Amino acid sequence: MATTFSEFELKPALQKSLDEVGYETPTPIQEQTIPLLLEKKDVLGQAQTGTGKTAAFALPLLSNLNLRQKDPQVLVLAPTRELAIQVAEAFKKYASHMKSFHVLPIYGGQEYSGQIRGLKRGSHVVVGTPGRVMDHMRRGTLKLDKLSTLVLDEADEMLRMGFIDDVESNCAFFGYHAAADKTDCHAIFERPCTNYH
Ligand code: AMP
Repeated sequence: MATTFSEFELKPALQKSLDEVGYETPTPIQEQTIPLLLEKKDVLGQAQTGTGKTAAFALPLLSNLNLRQKDPQVLVLAPTRELAIQVAEAFKKYASHMKSFHVLPIYGGQEYSGQIRGLKRGSHVVVGTPGRVMDHMRRGTLKLDKLSTLVLDEADEMLRMGFIDDVESNCAFFGYHAAADKTDCHAIFERPCTNYH
């Protein structure tokens, strides 16, 4: 088990950001999931809010990004726009030394035009709420054929809020394209003791 971030062999630009934000020791969820996601394995992580789960998926996924490929490679689904914005900000913070990196939050209640402009410009990572992500997929403004990783953040909350159809549609769509790529990786994060009814 890694006791320092340097043992994960993340991209040097990420290590630099971690030194700046002052993270010294990986939290348990980071210790367990970072090595698996670096190897593009599927992960089901259970962790309470505040235990470092965002960095647990953001760091390895950033480390594996191909910055020359501008179509979305990572899609994170989050239950609320607040969480989508927070996760996008975390990606930005950890990638502050990765030149040309782009992350785009897309969520309901915000004009389509700005989101469409952002998608046209190109974004390596998209973080969105399930309904708005589905809308963009249907309109053809969000293309996922270069996607390699799907993250369901607070999956338990998305199911509780009734996003199951949108999440399933996203997953089905993703599965179809990723199968062609053979580079699929799924990361699901939820709180412990989840009771799916
Ligand atoms: P999260 O559970 O992702 O919302 O993270 C909770 C808080 O812990 C955030 O403010 C992070 O910046 C911080 N954090 C995440 N990982 C670490 C770490 N390894 N060391 C210190 N702080 C961390």
